[in-house]
Amino acid sequence: MSLEERIQLVNQKIEAACQRSGRQREDVNVIAVTKYVSLETTGAVLNHGLEHIGENRWQDAQAKWEAFGQQGTWHFIGHLQTNKVKDVIGKFRYIHSLERLSLAKELDKKAASLGIEVETLLQVNISGEESKYGLQPEQASSFLREISSFNNLKVIGLMTMAPHEEDPELTRPVFRGLREVRDHLNGQALTAEPLAELSMGMSNDFEVAIEEGATWVRLGSILVGKEEGSQWA
Ligand SMILES: *Cc1c(COP(=O)(O)O)cnc(C)c1O
Repeated sequence: MSLEERIQLVNQKIEAACQRSGRQREDVNVIAVTKYVSLETTGAVLNHGLEHIGENRWQDAQAKWEAFGQQGTWHFIGHLQTNKVKDVIGKFRYIHSLERLSLAKELDKKAASLGIEVETLLQVNISGEESKYGLQPEQASSFLREISSFNNLKVIGLMTMAPHEEDPELTRPVFRGLREVRDHLNGQALTAEPLAELSMGMSNDFEVAIEEGATWVRLGSILVGKEEGSQWA
């Protein structure tokens, strides 16, 4: 399948999921995850009008960002080591993987030194798998309180990853759970503005995630493909 055909196919699936769940198509945004593909393919993705690019490791993203950083909007979606903050700050508009205080401190400090505000999502481990990063759901409100004085860091939503399931329907409780955590946090009014974003859903399960309220889906293999020899293929 060509890139164009994959984009069309994904769009149809997103529209159908929106219709099933009574959502507006424009409330669901797509992040094209380019970690499995080359620099050239990343350029093609941008040229096809996909604006949001997601990468999960700076080492893999660097060459792509240097080539195309001024085109599109970049999302850091992977686990972020504190000593890598200096590399990604100011380049990736959104950090989807904030899950510990030391990282929040470093993001705030480096953003302050650039005179910018960094937009983040709290990664929450809804499934409870030990292999997954993220705050426990019950830690989220105290974490938000702890970072509320960080003036250069803004939390705009939550992110989670579901376990890989053959039957994507089995991921529904994870996505519903993230939405419930967000609604619960918004009920406590811990942030100046309500948390709007839910970053959830990947190639295997994005339709279920949309039905459960995803505002960002992070799509790699189904949308941009996987290429031989890439780091994660
Ligand atoms: C790789 C990755 C994705 C995309 O994976 P696909 O299953 O290929 O869509 C989404 N989110 C994160 C955090 C990733 O690391």
